[in-house]
Amino acid sequence: MNSSDNASWVRCYLGLGSNLATELGLPVEHIQHALTILGEHTQIRDLQASSFYASKPMGPQDQPDFINAVVGFETILAPLELLDVCQHLEVEAKRARLRHWGERSLDVDILLYGQAQINESRLIIPHAGISDRNFVLVPLREIAPVLMIAGKPIVAYPLSADWTDLTQLNIDHTNSHNDKVL
Ligand code: ADP
Ligand code: MG
Repeated sequence: MNSSDNASWVRCYLGLGSNLATELGLPVEHIQHALTILGEHTQIRDLQASSFYASKPMGPQDQPDFINAVVGFETILAPLELLDVCQHLEVEAKRARLRHWGERSLDVDILLYGQAQINESRLIIPHAGISDRNFVLVPLREIAPVLMIAGKPIVAYPLSADWTDLTQLNIDHTNSHNDKVL
């Protein structure tokens, strides 16, 4: 028996986004790489990723469309430890903060941590943007159609009218099978 057998595993969901290529790769590749690292983490199991989506930027419009995905898994990491993992992935992708809601090589947000409600300076859960961002709600519904968010079923959260700005892409979650990526 190893120590993790006694710990309690919590189902979590992360939102990933990228719209900036770097010397490390294209937006799709930044997300694929992050999924690979999460899948290999010893304190993470049962990982399931949504399809990849292309979405219009929320902030300044003079930037490329985003690639977005959502991933769900169980973890024994505490919430702030999970945030450290997310921020480490962003640093690894050489994320620079160019401007508010601007372009970034990788954004990794914790959407949900079980049913926890957390209000700390570094961490707010559920993530404030879940309910009004189609690029979060649509992939989240895809992998977790009966999920409860703050006591309400996910289907009770309406998609906003501009949800057609979201395009589901036919791309593998891992880069090993892609001849061609966006
Ligand atoms: P955004 O994702 O809104 O574009 P950033 O990625 O730059 O913004 O994150 C800004 C800060 O948000 C981070 O330093 C982090 O401490 C904080 N934060 C608060 N709640 C969360 C959350 N649920 N997931 C990720 N970061 C969060
Ligand atoms: Mg973020």
